Amino acid sequence: MEQKKRLEEERRRSLDQIEELKKDDPFTDPDHASDNAAVDTDVREQVGHDTIEAQINDMQKRVGQIDSALRKINKNQFGYCERCKKAIPHARLELIPEASFCIDCEKHLRK
Ligand SMILES: [Zn+2]
Repeated sequence: MEQKKRLEEERRRSLDQIEELKKDDPFTDPDHASDNAAVDTDVREQVGHDTIEAQINDMQKRVGQIDSALRKINKNQFGYCERCKKAIPHARLELIPEASFCIDCEKHLRK
């Protein structure tokens, strides 16, 4: 199934990105704990850490969505709206393979 392959690729890419982000995190720098850097360096590292942490959180959320889409594929429930149970239009799945709702329900839920 093509969607499944796409989702698995996307999942792998997201996990790679999380690893990359973790490497950029100043807090994972082994010198961090021991350096007696000036206060402004610490502040900069804190901001960098917070930004990266927020990005990692977003990526992890995405991986979670992809996981649930993959679970649905395995249960043959993929492509159906979780709210109204109607089939999600193919064009939408092409765009967002991990979509759990049809466009109408998505709009409804965002209100
Ligand atoms: Zn729906």
